[in-house]
Amino acid sequence: MITHFLIFLTTLVAMEAVGTLAHKYIMHGPGWWLHRSHHEEHLGALEANDVFLLALAIIAVSLLLLGGTVVHSIGAGVAGYGLIYMFFHDGIVHRHWPVRPSPRHPYLQRLYHAHLMHHKVKGRHNSVSFGFLYAPPIATLEKKLATPVAAAEGCAGPAPQR
Ligand SMILES: [Zn+2]
Ligand SMILES: [Zn+2]
Repeated sequence: MITHFLIFLTTLVAMEAVGTLAHKYIMHGPGWWLHRSHHEEHLGALEANDVFLLALAIIAVSLLLLGGTVVHSIGAGVAGYGLIYMFFHDGIVHRHWPVRPSPRHPYLQRLYHAHLMHHKVKGRHNSVSFGFLYAPPIATLEKKLATPVAAAEGCAGPAPQR
C-alpha cells in the first residue's frame, strides 16, 4: 500500500518534470500550432490546446485499464497530475470555470503569479516558468523577463511575433 502511494507520488513529481519539458520544448516548439490557442484571447470554454490534456487523459486511462497494481499506481499519478493541472491552471489561473477560486496560500499565489508571467510574453519564445506544480521565485522570473537570453534558449535573435 505504502509502496503504491510512493509510486503515485513519484509519478506526480516525474510528471511535473515531463510536463515542464513538454511545455517548453513541445508546446512552445513543434506543438505551438495547438498551444498557441492558449496564449491568445479566446471566448469558448474549449481551445485547441486542450488536445494535450486529452492526450494525458488517454495515457492515464490506458494505464488504469491495463497492467497490474504498479501500472495502476503510475496511471493514478498521471491522472492526479491532469486533475491538479485542470484545477490549478484552468480553474484558479485562467478561471475557465463558473466558480472562480482565488489563491490564498503563498505556494498557490507564487504558482499563480508565475503562470501569469508565463503569459506575459507574447509569442512562443523567451517565456518563463513552464511548470505547473513548481514555480521559481517571482524575483528570479522578473529578472529573467527583463533580460531575455535568446541565445541560451536556442532561439536565433528576437523572435518574430507569431
Ligand atoms: Zn505556454
Ligand atoms: Zn496558461
